[in-house]
Amino acid sequence: MTHGSSFQRQAGIQAKVFLVGAGPGAPDLLTIRAAEILKRADIVFYDALVHPETIALAANAERIAVGKRCGRHSTAQRFINKRLVDAARKYGVVVRLKGGDPMLFGRAHEELEALRAAGIEHEVVPGVTAALAASAELGMSLTRRGIARSVAFLTPRVGKGERPNEWARAARSADTSVIYMGAGEAQSITSTLLAQGMSASTPVVVIENASLPDIRQVKLVLRDLPRVAELGLRGPAVILLGEIYADADVESIAPHSAARIA
Ligand code: SAH
Repeated sequence: MTHGSSFQRQAGIQAKVFLVGAGPGAPDLLTIRAAEILKRADIVFYDALVHPETIALAANAERIAVGKRCGRHSTAQRFINKRLVDAARKYGVVVRLKGGDPMLFGRAHEELEALRAAGIEHEVVPGVTAALAASAELGMSLTRRGIARSVAFLTPRVGKGERPNEWARAARSADTSVIYMGAGEAQSITSTLLAQGMSASTPVVVIENASLPDIRQVKLVLRDLPRVAELGLRGPAVILLGEIYADADVESIAPHSAARIA
């Protein structure tokens, strides 16, 4: 297949960059379109959370890890943008493989801007985002007639110049919230949401490694959210928040007794 794309290059047909969603972790939660593109890829830049079996689908490609794991070393976004543009000048089928869906907390905007500015043809292939994989695992709809009609995807992670607590307003106004990149900041998430007037007894479910064999799920209430630190989470985790989770059928972290709080 690599030959096909090299041939295209020789024939003067423009290279193409694909921003591909790898899904939440399980390698079989990949779209057929994504698998086909990976098989044709000449070069793949992949995120740290992508499963090795998914990367292996790009059998003929040069495969390059570009980091992106919370808190650890990751390649600077501007450098990734530049590498995509450079690769498109050298290769036929360039793939930027991202965890979940590229269009949600995936810095896709910056990459698409760089590709547009350079006049490079591109396409986005959606993937299953973590919130949906987590809901599937839990067996609970994000919406429910009469109780939950709106869902917010949020992250407390902010870039330079952004106001730090802006995200919390959305959590207040949506019936159900899914917080990405937040499990390591449970303490500040909790105090921010409580300060915004959210009820301390709001049900919360934390799901680590959704769709993977080492999944962990735990239920608690907002005031106890900082106790997720006790779980020693190592994998990616989402925090689901909203009244519907009162019914979640997963193990609870027992609330602190009054004596312990005092
Ligand atoms: N574009 C991705 C999100 C990237 S941000 C998507 O659509 O899913 C990375 C965050 O996604 C992690 O910090 C975590 O909050 C969440 N995440 C990714 N994979 C996950 C998984 N398998 N289980 C739980 N949360 C996950």
